[in-house]
Amino acid sequence: MLRVADRWFERRTMGEGVTWIWEPHLNPFIRCNIWHVRGRDGDLLVDTGSGLSPLRRAIVDLVARPLAAVATHIHYDHVGGLYEFDERMMHHLEAPRMNPYREFHPIRASDFPESFRPYLQADSTGARDLLLDARPAENWTAGDYAITSTTLTRRLTDGDVVDLGDRAFEVMHLPGHSPGSIGLWEPRTGIFFSGDAIYDGPLFDMLPDSSIRDYLLTMKRLRSLPVTVVHGGHEPSFGRERMVAIVDQYLRSRGA
Ligand SMILES: [Zn+2]
Repeated sequence: MLRVADRWFERRTMGEGVTWIWEPHLNPFIRCNIWHVRGRDGDLLVDTGSGLSPLRRAIVDLVARPLAAVATHIHYDHVGGLYEFDERMMHHLEAPRMNPYREFHPIRASDFPESFRPYLQADSTGARDLLLDARPAENWTAGDYAITSTTLTRRLTDGDVVDLGDRAFEVMHLPGHSPGSIGLWEPRTGIFFSGDAIYDGPLFDMLPDSSIRDYLLTMKRLRSLPVTVVHGGHEPSFGRERMVAIVDQYLRSRGA
């Protein structure tokens, strides 16, 4: 029996009003980065984690303004806490899949297809079949794990702006990993929240709803984006030089 976690979320201040939040007890493969951004009139939350433990309660001290919760895409490791927030946004292509939520949401290694096992074995948490090394609550059981369905309050499209008063993020539609994957781009600072379109680790373009053709176009678009820092959906953040290297590596790997 797993012990109950003292604390489910960790966080780190990243500068420019950005706080990185993550779930240390999850297997890294299903542990997404959650980003909180402070604005003058409103806050932005990029992705919401697994939903294993309430997120809103855990970040209540960070949030003093209305908060726009944006999911970069439909995959379960990014949308678990979305239902907790008053303003819920996602690309219009994936918004309907949030209610009812019927996507794959494995919490055991044995639930994944064999081809995923090598990634899961990169687990440093010591967990075996369960993809966590602590329970989120005393009465939690793996069999009950589900993503709470929710209706979006705003359906995003490429070029939309999420305005926080003194700062604004542009929605970039970045299909490939999934059809409605998006990034959020702040031209003034060069901060780019990229979701699972690009991060510094193995990229997935072979999932049931992935498209390599779309991914190639997304990567070519990203290559010219004048970023200062990329805060991805997984793995540590990186700068423009590394982004271009990841793009070029992807393009080469797919013969483009
Ligand atoms: Zn994903």
